[in-house]
Amino acid sequence: MGKIKKSNILKILDKYDKDNITIATLGSHTSLHILKGAKEEGFKTAIICEKGRETPYQRFNVADEYIIVNEFKDIVNEEIQQQLRDINAIVIPHGSFVAYAGLKNIEDKFNVPIFGNRDVLRWESEREKERQLLVEGNIRIPYKYNSPEDIDRPVMVKFPGARGGRGYFVASSPTEFKNKIHIMKERGWLEDSDIDKAHIEEYVSGCNYCIHYFYSALEDKVEIMGMDTRYESSIDGFVRMPAKDQLDINLTPSYVVTGNHPAVIRESLLPQVFEIGDKLVESAKKLVSPGLNGPFCMQTLVNDNLEVICFEISARTDGGTNTFMNGSPYSYLTHGKPMSMGRRISLEIKNAIEKKELEKIIT
Ligand code: AMP
Repeated sequence: MGKIKKSNILKILDKYDKDNITIATLGSHTSLHILKGAKEEGFKTAIICEKGRETPYQRFNVADEYIIVNEFKDIVNEEIQQQLRDINAIVIPHGSFVAYAGLKNIEDKFNVPIFGNRDVLRWESEREKERQLLVEGNIRIPYKYNSPEDIDRPVMVKFPGARGGRGYFVASSPTEFKNKIHIMKERGWLEDSDIDKAHIEEYVSGCNYCIHYFYSALEDKVEIMGMDTRYESSIDGFVRMPAKDQLDINLTPSYVVTGNHPAVIRESLLPQVFEIGDKLVESAKKLVSPGLNGPFCMQTLVNDNLEVICFEISARTDGGTNTFMNGSPYSYLTHGKPMSMGRRISLEIKNAIEKKELEKIIT
């Protein structure tokens, strides 16, 4: 648990002019639809932008106010925090916000109201904690190996930190594991200190669905907001090559996310999709109160037994939500109008202000 207590944040929120709230976020990741959605719900918007990276925000015109910083990590500087409080800002966390501001700073130093549960961010960043959430929820996950010596079938090898899949590889035996570690080290993608931290799990042969949910703490309801699949380099380029050439060039592919495709899942799988979302919300309530308020994502693989297997979660808005900036088939079913994840967040904040229940969704 961090040093910033919810009671302190509520004191700051108390002084805010609730008729004049600004929705703010860091200019990266999913900030375009976060701010666009905030405008659609009638809020003022602010972007904390690294010098030189203003172009998309200016061209798409999503921000009323620019707070320019030399480096993203400056967002935790006291003067920037004061600027945010001065404009009654509620900050929406996303993957880059966590990566650049730093988890420890968010927990201990960032005295600005954040949408969602500040404490849950650590649970998605640490693989063992993430696993605990899934195990507690009794959700199907890939089998985990405790040692490379035990590898007896295809496995996926992963490393800690937000690397966007860099350095991940597939192996089928202890020898292949050692060889590939060597290749990744030569490429400069792994260091000796990473090797003990290798996370080895069953390779699930199946199709990838990253499922974006929104848990409304106000309504105690889980919504499916949209789905995407990842477009990853070099693997997705590699598989366009005939198999013979793939063997000839002897390249070890990597899984660096470069973009996303929107997806829909077979309708008969939707009961499972709702079930795992509901289960994760319940386990998060138990393990890290108040739970997964707001957006979260379950990255899954669906095998040919039609089992939905979850290999990763995000406990905040995930990059794949960019595939439905104008709404998805699923968010349309629920809301009957274009509803991005960003807009859904602002709608929740708007409803909370109206009901005088902001304290339920802010930490
Ligand atoms: P991640 O960085 O965890 O999102 O993983 C990057 C990519 O690796 C995913 O998009 C999947 O394509 C693939 N992947 C991850 N875990 C597994 C697994 N257990 N089995 C098969 N593919 C996986």
